[in-house]
Amino acid sequence: MHEVALSTELARVVARAAKGRRVRQVNLRIGALRQVVPSSMEYAWGFVTAATPLEGARLHIDWIDAVIECEQGHRTVLDASSYLDLSCPRCDAPTRVVAGEEFQVVDLEVEAA
Ligand SMILES: [Zn+2]
Repeated sequence: MHEVALSTELARVVARAAKGRRVRQVNLRIGALRQVVPSSMEYAWGFVTAATPLEGARLHIDWIDAVIECEQGHRTVLDASSYLDLSCPRCDAPTRVVAGEEFQVVDLEVEAA
């Protein structure tokens, strides 16, 4: 369950950014290609932050669709069953990923000092 590793790293980043303030909510963007399972992420976050200064901080996650683009400029939103096939469905050209690899803290909601 790689959500534990992600949560551990996230907790480290958030704790540093919070500078001792109490964190109510962490706003995150996670791309579909990260293969993060929402319920696992919630569970892992609760587990990793229990009995730490981050205990009780909520995660608010914006899930970003995976999007590929080929050299002709065709953009395709991938669904979960096609993550392994990254050729363009319209012209079969090779593609690059333009969205879906995010794992990004947008901001923190902290209690007023
Ligand atoms: Zn194409």
